[in-house]
Amino acid sequence: MDCLFCKIASGEIPSTKVYEDAKVLAFRDISPQAPVHIVLIPKAHYENILEIPFDNSVINDMIKAVQIIAKQEGMEDEGFRVVNNCKEFGGQTVDHLHFHILGKRKLTWPPG
Ligand code: 5GP
Ligand code: ZN
Repeated sequence: MDCLFCKIASGEIPSTKVYEDAKVLAFRDISPQAPVHIVLIPKAHYENILEIPFDNSVINDMIKAVQIIAKQEGMEDEGFRVVNNCKEFGGQTVDHLHFHILGKRKLTWPPG
């Protein structure tokens, strides 16, 4: 499958890894929007958040990784943001489900 994040998950395209376990991979965003900007993906390919079956544990795996990464990056006290962009209006540009983890600066709200 011609999917950028599948290629990053398989190691075909290199990335700066932040965290990895059997089910998920986290790496630094190539175009960071904050001092910490990490992309967290399931290794399995799901196009977006609408495609995850309810009986699948991938969301548990993702949340566990968020907690580990937040501590690893020293963001657990000051906080951070987790974002999922879904399809056109959400601003999704890579069609492999991912969370953005952004931190180390005070982020504005609402988003543009
Ligand atoms: P989306 O726009 O789909 O929510 O997020 C895709 C993210 O992937 C963007 O923030 C973009 O900067 C990042 N990205 C795109 N191509 C690459 C790449 O080859 N390597 C890395 N590390 N990040 C990428
Ligand atoms: Zn993929």
